[in-house]
Amino acid sequence: MTLLDAPASARVLDAVRAVQRSELEASAAFSRLDLMSGAVGLGLFGAAAAEVGADPTLAEAALARAFERFNALGAGPGLHDGLAGLGLFAQLTFDLSSALLPVDRRLTEVARSPGVLLSLRSGLAGLALYASTRLATESGAALAAAVVERLETLAVAHRGALTWPTPTAYAKGHGLTVLAEPVLEPGLAHGQAGVLVGLAALARGGVARARALLAPALDWLWQVERPGPSRFGWAMFGGGTDAPVQALYDLSWCTGDAGVARAAWLAAEVLAEPKQQARALALARAVAGEVLAGKSPGLAHRPDLCCGAAGVGHIFNLFFADTFEPPFAEAARRALGPLLERLPPLEAGSFQFGRLGVLAALIAATTDAAFAWELALGVRLLPAPGAG
Ligand SMILES: [Zn+2]
Repeated sequence: MTLLDAPASARVLDAVRAVQRSELEASAAFSRLDLMSGAVGLGLFGAAAAEVGADPTLAEAALARAFERFNALGAGPGLHDGLAGLGLFAQLTFDLSSALLPVDRRLTEVARSPGVLLSLRSGLAGLALYASTRLATESGAALAAAVVERLETLAVAHRGALTWPTPTAYAKGHGLTVLAEPVLEPGLAHGQAGVLVGLAALARGGVARARALLAPALDWLWQVERPGPSRFGWAMFGGGTDAPVQALYDLSWCTGDAGVARAAWLAAEVLAEPKQQARALALARAVAGEVLAGKSPGLAHRPDLCCGAAGVGHIFNLFFADTFEPPFAEAARRALGPLLERLPPLEAGSFQFGRLGVLAALIAATTDAAFAWELALGVRLLPAPGAG
């Protein structure tokens, strides 16, 4: 069952087909590598657009461009800002399995190196999502093992559960005013929910040591949950019961309740624990309820995947596909429906903040197909091996 009806879907597909490859190739995004603002993001959009009948050559052109950029300039390891994102795109869209052996090896070194980050965006959580696409290969399995081993080492016991404090320099880099250490964040892009979904991806692929970390990681989220709204849209400094807190975007994919609800649900699904599933679903229903009561899905006036309505609407769309509960469909339509009239200009071409990410969420609302970009954002996992 698709979210949008036939006339609305036709309008989305018109907007998708209107995106010209030549315009994208002339954009600043094409000259960068990364997933969130560069060629890999263009390629992920191109692969999604091709699934619904648009120009199939964009994804290939973007892949060639990303490899060219990498060979000329190198890249950091991160999923959203470097090599792991290129690897995920190449594996899921083109199945370049043997060509990715050196990528696996390089990222395995990174996972073991001092100073490795933790986040889905740039650190171990993102490497875990990439590794989940590579578990059928020896080098991919070795990467997964190195990532999990490092997460075991870096886990900190906190209020009887496990958490992964944000490195202070990274916290400052994404705009936090660090008042005390450790910095603790629940959110998907930078914090605990990202680690949780990375572990869930590997656990679903059969990595037992990842599965062992899942329940204590999920327990930490439930222990720090605050009364709504904004149960999880904050960062905490110092970790005591009276620790100071900085408010972040409260309902968004990146730092807010929608992203955390999705990560908690995916982890609970992998654990196959009815109590955890019920709690994650209750959270998702509460967030959808806020949107249905009139709250802005993400930052007001922001259409984008990261902080705005496209990311939140897509999460509700996925919850509807998983549960068939009508309020999720209604909340998803509330978030996604107006976006076609509010598309950001193509020049603001990043996948994270621009038109292509918004169109990717709208494409997904016209079909039941799964897309590589959904794994890159930690909102959908690959099927379990043997699940078909
Ligand atoms: Zn954001």
